[in-house]
Amino acid sequence: MADALQNYIDGKWLDAADGGRFDVFDPSTGAVIATAPDSQPADVERAIDAARRTFDDGAWWPGTSERERGRILLRAADIVRREHERLSQMESLDSGKPIGEAREDISEVAFMFEYYGGWATKIHGDIPPVGPDAMSLVVKEPMGVAAAITPWNYPMMMAVQKVAPAIAAGCTLILKPAEQTPLTALEIPKILEEAGLPAGVLNVITGFGETAGAPLVASPKVDKVGFTGSKEIGKLIMRNGADTLKRVTLELGGKSPNIVFADADFDAAIEGSCNGIFWNQGEICSAGSRVLVQREIYDDALNAMVEHAKGVKLGAPGAEGTTMGPLVSKDQAERVERYIEIGSSEASMAVQGDRPTDPALAGGYFVPPTIFADVDNKARIAQEEIFGPVMSVIPFSTPEEALAMSNDNEYGLAAAVWTRDIKKAMNTARALRAGIVWINDTQTAPSETPWGGYKQSGIGRELGASGVEDYLEAKHIYVNLAE
Ligand code: NAP
Repeated sequence: MADALQNYIDGKWLDAADGGRFDVFDPSTGAVIATAPDSQPADVERAIDAARRTFDDGAWWPGTSERERGRILLRAADIVRREHERLSQMESLDSGKPIGEAREDISEVAFMFEYYGGWATKIHGDIPPVGPDAMSLVVKEPMGVAAAITPWNYPMMMAVQKVAPAIAAGCTLILKPAEQTPLTALEIPKILEEAGLPAGVLNVITGFGETAGAPLVASPKVDKVGFTGSKEIGKLIMRNGADTLKRVTLELGGKSPNIVFADADFDAAIEGSCNGIFWNQGEICSAGSRVLVQREIYDDALNAMVEHAKGVKLGAPGAEGTTMGPLVSKDQAERVERYIEIGSSEASMAVQGDRPTDPALAGGYFVPPTIFADVDNKARIAQEEIFGPVMSVIPFSTPEEALAMSNDNEYGLAAAVWTRDIKKAMNTARALRAGIVWINDTQTAPSETPWGGYKQSGIGRELGASGVEDYLEAKHIYVNLAE
């Protein structure tokens, strides 16, 4: 029988008030693996009230010291490490990502708890000089009640990169994970409860965007929304949050360029370019979905990437040796297949891998790695986020041409540059309009560093020091010292 998951509100495990549930699927087979509460506005209100009350009664902040907030997060890191394999298996099962990639994600989750555990005792303000007759104290205070709304592609990481800094800052919060992948999100309160987090600080509700997400954004009792997801929903959140002037952090999509210059380390560039779009089934906001290749090496690079794609092993995500699992849902697989159809009319398909042959996976949402060659940068497959294992290869002649095409997109999340020439690398990096630029690397995103996008890839930065700053207000206390 499928597990019956529950919401976590005010330290209690609860069904939705009206008893409604939705199914959670194993994307590799289409089988139902769990059911989760289909939370409605009344359930959301209950979670908001718990978070609001807990923040306003003062026992959590300022009543719980920074040291204790830090210790809770450090203990959570240890618990994640203790539960590492179980959480990795759960994440892989729920999202479809290969188990090796899930293990890397969960390791980073443990580190995020540790990193923000260290931050709790290092949040402080400033004393700017204001003359002999006064003193100005700028103190940092938690923003209050935060809502964290997260996507399905890195379910536990995306949640913890909001939950951990919010707790370090002294906020209380309500987490709404994507309806496709609620399993590991509901492990977070168990971990934090064991680590000593008081009831009411973290509340987790499952459900759909319109019924469980939108009321969080509209509520006057919620001070801030940290959102990771699509550009379209990000815009909706800004609009819906405008009435209450909600503070928002938006981590949105991308159509990231991956520029391969002729003087690059060829093998490293090919492997990096392929990993940049085929890891995590291409369901990566910063995926290098536009691969720009200098004409001198274009044919060789294309052939090498085609060979790489043929070597990708689609299969059960939990099986060691699988390098690509299914997409997260039937809807997502259909969306990517529609883009492959569009691409077939816009460019030439250089390769498309095979679906797995195992009959047990016949109902899975598999979409094989696909490469389109000679793509025009104006084509839809080069301009729109597909969010699947679909690479568009675009030839270029000069660095200026590569740069102009790279920046010619409404997104600006990430970019990669492959070259042995450090000046060219740095000059290109400086001219790219993107929140992160990798030089001779791809997708590496240490939690100590800021993450976020230029242009329509978002507003604000998560992770690193800015991740905590996101959950703080600055209060200026002015003291008149004049006789
Ligand atoms: P999505 O459709 O925008 O959904 C994200 C979250 O928003 C889900 O929890 C969703 O609930 C919720 N939601 C939907 N409508 C809402 C509404 N009206 N009000 C409040 N919440 C609402 O995105 P996704 O398909 O889950 O994820 C893929 C997208 O995320 C891609 O565009 C990807 O690039 C982006 N992403 C960005 C980053 C980054 O760091 N920049 C990282 C990862 C992913 P449901 O469960 O009902 O959908």
